[in-house]
Amino acid sequence: GNSRRIADNSSRHAVRQAFSYAAHRKPPRAAFLNGALLIETSLEPLPLLDWTQEVERLGGRRRDEVWGPRTIDIDIVLMSDVVLRSPRLELPHPRSAYRRFMIEPAAEIAPEWIHPHVGWTLRELDQFLRTTPCYAVIVGGATAEREALVQRVQERVSLRWLRRADSMSLAALH
Ligand code: ATP
Ligand code: CA
Ligand code: CA
Repeated sequence: GNSRRIADNSSRHAVRQAFSYAAHRKPPRAAFLNGALLIETSLEPLPLLDWTQEVERLGGRRRDEVWGPRTIDIDIVLMSDVVLRSPRLELPHPRSAYRRFMIEPAAEIAPEWIHPHVGWTLRELDQFLRTTPCYAVIVGGATAEREALVQRVQERVSLRWLRRADSMSLAALH
C-alpha cells in the first residue's frame, strides 16, 4: 500500500537524530524523543501526509489528549519552499519555527534550509532558540494586527524586534 509507495517514490537522505526533551506540562511526564528525517520525494504534499498518517497508524498511534503522550507522531516540518494553508495540511508546520525540539534535529541535517516563516536558515533559527532565554512569537492574524499587539506589549516591557515575516513575528524580551 502506501508504505510501499513512499519507498518507490522517495529516496531516504538522512536520518537524524534522537534528542529527548522534557514535556513542559504538569504534572511532569516522560520526556518525548524527537528526531528529524530528510527525504527526497516525488509525492505531492497531501499524498505525503497520507503516507505519514498511515505510518502513524502502523506504528500503533494512540493518544488520549491533545499534545499528550503518544506512541508516534510524524509532522511535516518543511517541504522545499512550499507555503500552504489547507484544512488538512499547513506548510511549514505552523508551530515549527519556535519549537526547539523540531528545529534542533532539523538543523543538524539541513542547516542551510531557509524557514519561510522567518526567512532564517535552520542553523540561524536553531542558534536563536538556543541562546535567547526569553522570546515572544506571535503567529497568525494580519501583519498589522500583530504589529499593533506588539506596540501594546512594548509599552510595558522592553522588547527587541528580531523578525517580522508574513505570518509571524519574533521578538526577544529583555
Ligand atoms: P502539533 O501539530 O502542534 O505538533 P500534534 O502533532 O499533536 O500537534 P496531531 O493531532 O498529530 O497534532 O495533528 C492534527 C492534524 O494536523 C493532522 O491530522 C493533520 O491533518 C494536521 N496538520 C496540519 N499541518 C500539518 C503538518 N505540517 N504536518 C502534519 N500534520 C499537519
Ligand atoms: Ca506534533
Ligand atoms: Ca502530528
